[in-house]
Amino acid sequence: MPIQTTANIWHNGQLIPWDKAQIHVMSHVIHYGSSVFEGIRCYAQPSGASVFRLQEHMQRLMDSAKIYRMPLAYTVDQLSAAVIDVIEANGIAPCYVRPIAFRGYGEIGVNPLKSPVDIYIANFPWGKYVPGNEGADVCVSSWSRLAPNTMPSLAKAGANYMNSQLIRMEAEVNGYAEGIALDVNGYLSEGSGENLFLVRNGVIYTTPLANSVLSGITRNSVIILAKQLGMEVVEQTLPRELLYIADEAFFTGTAAEVTHLRSVDRILIGDGTMGPITSALHEEFFGIVNGLKADRYNWLTPVNVKVAEPVGV
Ligand SMILES: *Cc1c(COP(=O)(O)O)cnc(C)c1O
Repeated sequence: MPIQTTANIWHNGQLIPWDKAQIHVMSHVIHYGSSVFEGIRCYAQPSGASVFRLQEHMQRLMDSAKIYRMPLAYTVDQLSAAVIDVIEANGIAPCYVRPIAFRGYGEIGVNPLKSPVDIYIANFPWGKYVPGNEGADVCVSSWSRLAPNTMPSLAKAGANYMNSQLIRMEAEVNGYAEGIALDVNGYLSEGSGENLFLVRNGVIYTTPLANSVLSGITRNSVIILAKQLGMEVVEQTLPRELLYIADEAFFTGTAAEVTHLRSVDRILIGDGTMGPITSALHEEFFGIVNGLKADRYNWLTPVNVKVAEPVGV
C-alpha cells in the first residue's frame, strides 16, 4: 500500500503541512526504536463518519509511553480532540489514523531521557475493506513473540515491530498471509499485529495477556460482543496443536478487524469456511462500525467530515 498523502499532520499541538512533518536522521528514535504508536480506524456510517474506540486508543498510547518513561504533554482528552481535528482538517473519511510519539533530536546516547518527546498524528484514506469470505492461510512462525522481561508486550512500541517484521516477512515469502508466533514457552501468542482466537466445541478461547500479546482493542471489543451474545469466552494458555483441531479460528485487530483463518500450516481449520461463531461476531462487529446496528457501547465518536466513496485497501 503506497503512502497516500493528506494536507495536514498534527504535530505537538499544531497542524502542519504533510511535507513539513520531517525529523532529523540523528533523532533518537531512528537509532534505538524509541517510539510508541496507535492505529485507529474512522468508519463511515449512513449518518456520517466516526472513530472507533478513540479514547481507549489514546489511553493505550499514554500507557505505552508510561511504560517507556516517555512523558506526553497532553491528556487523553486532548489527544482524542487532536485526532478529530486532523481528520476534520483533512476532510477524509473513512480513514486510518496513526498517532505516534517518539524520542526526537537531542542526544545520541542510549538513554532516551535527554531527548525531547515529539507527537505526530497523521491520517490517510482507508476504505471499507470488503473481506473475501475465503479466509486467510497462515502459518506458525519460527520466530517467537517477545519473552517477558525482554520487551514489554503491552506497549505498542515501534521496536516490537522488528519482531513483527520477522514474523510477517517469513510468512509472506513462504506464501502465507500471516504468521502466528508462539510465546517463549511454546504456547500460542499472536500474529505480527493481530490477536488470536479459536473456537472448539462452542467455546471461544483467546491467549491471555501474560502470553506476550498486545491488549488489542478489537480483541476486547470481540470479547464484549461474544459475552453479550451469550457465548463463553475463556482466556487461557493454549497449546499450538489446539489450533489445528479447532473448529474455527480468527484474528482481530484494527487492520484485520475480524478475519477468519482458513488454514494453519496448510491444515484446514474445520472445513475451511467461516464458522457460525466467527460469522456471528463478524456480523455484530461490522454491524456496529458500519452503523447498521446500534452503537450500544458508545464505541463511536462522530467526526464532521463528508464521507467519500469507499476506496480500496
Ligand atoms: C496493534 C496490535 C494488535 C491489535 O490491536 P488493536 O487494538 O485491536 O488494533 C495486536 N497485536 C499487536 C502486536 C499489535 O501491535
